[in-house]
Amino acid sequence: MRKLFSMIAVVLLLVFCSACGDTTTTDSSIPTIHTGTSSSQSASSSEDTSTVATVTSMSTLTDAAVTSMSTSSSHTRTTTSTTTVSTTTPKLDKQWYTQGDVQITKAEVDAVMRQTYVKPKNVIVMIADGMGPNDIIITEKYSEECFGFGLLLNQFKNHGKAITNNDNGGVTDSAASATALATGVKTSNEKVGMTRDGIVLKNVSEIAREQGKKVGIVTNDQITGATPSGYTVHAHSRESTDILANSFVDFAPDVLIGQNFANFIINLDAERQDKFKNNFLTATTIPLMATVLDRDLTGEKPLIGFFNSDLLGDANNMLAQCTEIALNRLDNEKGFFLMIEGAGTDKAGHQNDIFAKMSNVITFERAIAVVLKFMKNNPDTLLLITSDHECGGVQLPAKGEELTDALFTSTSHTSKNVRVFALGYGTEYFRGKTVDNTDIGKFTISAVKGELS
Ligand SMILES: [Zn+2]
Repeated sequence: MRKLFSMIAVVLLLVFCSACGDTTTTDSSIPTIHTGTSSSQSASSSEDTSTVATVTSMSTLTDAAVTSMSTSSSHTRTTTSTTTVSTTTPKLDKQWYTQGDVQITKAEVDAVMRQTYVKPKNVIVMIADGMGPNDIIITEKYSEECFGFGLLLNQFKNHGKAITNNDNGGVTDSAASATALATGVKTSNEKVGMTRDGIVLKNVSEIAREQGKKVGIVTNDQITGATPSGYTVHAHSRESTDILANSFVDFAPDVLIGQNFANFIINLDAERQDKFKNNFLTATTIPLMATVLDRDLTGEKPLIGFFNSDLLGDANNMLAQCTEIALNRLDNEKGFFLMIEGAGTDKAGHQNDIFAKMSNVITFERAIAVVLKFMKNNPDTLLLITSDHECGGVQLPAKGEELTDALFTSTSHTSKNVRVFALGYGTEYFRGKTVDNTDIGKFTISAVKGELS
C-alpha cells in the first residue's frame, strides 16, 4: 500500500512538473524549474483541452497523493523519488518560481522585499478568494515537501490580519467583501458596490480613472463574478449578471480578463453588444491576447480577454500569464490600478477538496511571482494581498495527522480573520495589526489618490 502511495506521489510530481514544462538551467549554480508556459506558445482551443485533461488526472490523484506525502515514511520516499525524476530539483532558500519567461530567485525576492519604495504611481491588489490563514500554513508545508521551497507570501515583512464580517456583523459573501475592499464601506451580502439601502459607492477603479490612471481587472473566475464586479461596477444583486456585464462594457477597464466568453456575451444587450464589437480588443485565448495587443497600433483600446481553465487546477499557470499580459499593457506614465483575483481557493473550500485548496494557493503564488518581478524594476508600485473571507474552516493537522479533506469543518464561508500582506510605500501600516477589511479599502483608495503619508 505504501508503495502505491509513493508511486502516486511520484506521478503527482510528474504531473505538476509536466505542468511546468521542461526543466532548464539558466545559471549553472542555480537550478531552475519551469512552472509556466511561454506566452509565445502556440495556442488555441487545444490548449484548453489539454489543460482540462491534466487537471482531471490531478483530481483523481488528489487525496491519496497528498496523504502519502504527509506521512513521514512515504515523505522520505517522495523526496528520494523527486530527486530521481528531476536532476534540477530546487534547493530550499535558493530558488523560487520560473513563470513563463519570468524567473524569480530567492536573491531577487530578498532584493524586492528590501528595496526602497517611493509614493506609488501603480497600485496592485491581489485577492485569493476564500483563502484562510490555515490554507497558507498547510500549503507552505506541501510546497516545501513537493517543490523544495516555501511560499512567497511568507516573505513579506509587512503583514497582519483583517476582519471580514459584513455590515451587520454576519459572515460575508464575496460581493459584500469586495465592496468593502474596493470602496472602504461595508454592505450586506449580495450587494455589489452599493450599501444595503442601494446608495452607490464609488470604487477604487473609478477613483483610479479619475486620477488619469489605467485600470485592469484579472480573474480566473467569470468576469461577472462577485469579486471583479465589486471592484468595478454596481448592482443590487450579484446574481444580476446582465446588469454587471453591461456595466463592465460601459466602464471599459483598460484590461479585463476572466473566464468564459460565451457566458459574458450572452448577458449583453444590443447596445452593449455593438459597443463590445466596435470599441474593444477581444481575445478568447491567452496567446490571442498577446496577438491582438501587438496589432493595436493605438495602444489605447481596452482589451477583454477570456480563457477557459478548471478552477480546481491551473496547470498552465493561466492566472500568472494573464497577470503578465495585464502588467505589460497597463504600465504607463500616469500609473494604473490592477486587481488580480485567484478564485479557486474559494471553490475548493466549498467542495472540501484539500489538494485543490493547496494547488490554488500555489496558482496564486505564481501570479505573485510575476508581480514581484515587476516591482523589482518599479519601486513606485504598491502591492496589497489579502482574501475576502475564509472558506471551508480548514483546521491544521495534528502532529503526524495526514493532510486530507477531513481538515475541513465547513462547506461555507466562515468569520475567521484573513491574512494581509503588503509591500511598498507606507505599508508598515499593516505590520502586526488586525485591521477591518474597510481599512484595506480606505488604504487602497489613499494610495491611488497619492495621499499616503
Ligand atoms: Zn464562496
